[in-house]
Amino acid sequence: MINDDKLHEECGVFGVFCNDPEQDAAPLVYYGLFSLQHRGQESAGIATVKDKVIEMRKGMGLVGDIFDPETLSQIKGPAAVGHVRYSTVGSSNLENAQPFVSRFKLGSIAVAHNGTLTNADVVRELLEDAGIGFTSSSDSEVIVNLIAKNYKKGLEKAFTDTIQFIKGSYALVILTDDALVGARDPNGIRPLCLGRLGGEQAGGWILSSESCAIEAAGGVFVRDIDPGEVVIINHDQVFSFSFSEKTRRAVCSFEYIYFARPDSVIDGIDVYSSRIRAGEILGMESAVAADLVIGVPDSGIPAAIGYGRATGTPFGMGIVKNKYIGRTFIAPGQSVRERAVFLKHFVIRSEVNGKRIVLIDDSIVRGTTSRRLVSLLKGAGAKEVHIRICCPPVRFPCYFGIDTPHRKDLISNASSADEVCKSLGADSLTFITVNGLLESLMPAAAADSGFCLGCFTGEYPIPVQYTHSPA
Ligand code: SF4
Repeated sequence: MINDDKLHEECGVFGVFCNDPEQDAAPLVYYGLFSLQHRGQESAGIATVKDKVIEMRKGMGLVGDIFDPETLSQIKGPAAVGHVRYSTVGSSNLENAQPFVSRFKLGSIAVAHNGTLTNADVVRELLEDAGIGFTSSSDSEVIVNLIAKNYKKGLEKAFTDTIQFIKGSYALVILTDDALVGARDPNGIRPLCLGRLGGEQAGGWILSSESCAIEAAGGVFVRDIDPGEVVIINHDQVFSFSFSEKTRRAVCSFEYIYFARPDSVIDGIDVYSSRIRAGEILGMESAVAADLVIGVPDSGIPAAIGYGRATGTPFGMGIVKNKYIGRTFIAPGQSVRERAVFLKHFVIRSEVNGKRIVLIDDSIVRGTTSRRLVSLLKGAGAKEVHIRICCPPVRFPCYFGIDTPHRKDLISNASSADEVCKSLGADSLTFITVNGLLESLMPAAAADSGFCLGCFTGEYPIPVQYTHSPA
């Protein structure tokens, strides 16, 4: 992909339960998925339930390409779940597109999952030994089959048993014959929140990866789902319970740095404000004399504003992103990927010519983008380019639903900041410190980390098996 020099979010999930049995939930899920498109662009799907029958449509590509008014009108019912996918476990094909639907003797369910199970192989083997077949290579299908297997114990028990068996990261939105269910893993690594439908709608409930999508579907944000919490929504009631006694909150810090939309609020932290703060802290930690601060669009821009405020450096738009490049541009191999960076960004010469530039970006993964941007800026006449990065060096892979390159391809894995700076051709390079990052996320309690920092520190909130790590 053209933005292969970034870590990639795996998925977004969305669910709607309308109180009015005559109302169709699919259009609302469509709006929700549209707003979560940044979390996955490879495939999308919507499953609805009407009169205890689950219908599903899914396809490869963007939400707007898969669902037109006619397709949406064919999937009827007052409750629905949807999913957008970027694959990390399992190939990118229609079989692995979600939601996954399972029809069995006692009913049917549709599951949409964001995250990665760290014990999926073991659970899959146990289920296969019990004669349960799989149609995909996705770890999410393990969850569907486990719930189906436990369903005879009743809905609540089936979920509790399933969730206590699986390990890893998950935000789950599940549709049954008559209920919408949400669950978040015991560490809350992936985000999930609850919203309420009201106003012109007859009322109902929403579950979403991010708060921005609740508003897009005409709802209002109610609260985040707690780590280790299950919420069950049906016609009679909305109730929730905790399935995990001991939970240590460890929300993915990259959600704030890069993945989430800036207008979302995750676990009480406003994403846009946290990016501004990260820039301010970078300014306090590593200011440099400069004429202009610019941000790499999109997520580097708020931090550049923050850096400018903290240091008094004028903020400007030195780099513009090509809006029309699309996410489907495939750039296999390093050399093609490097050319692709030229297509993605362009520099405004009149803004940068003759100036000392501070260039702010959210992260450095392989270094391809930063190297090219330095070269573009210098080619446009910039006198100096000083790079400031809003996260600490990415040195370790992610095992919780984020697509990370092999460790040997992470430019900071075996190199110091000075070595990386030299290889990028920049005049200086600094990263925000881990404490600085924490302070940007939680200014009042920086010492108490409620965040996963695994790809920076190598310390993960749950034990992982090193399946594709150290080189
Ligand atoms: S390892 Fe990094 S990307 Fe993965 S969940 Fe933790 S902070 Fe997020």
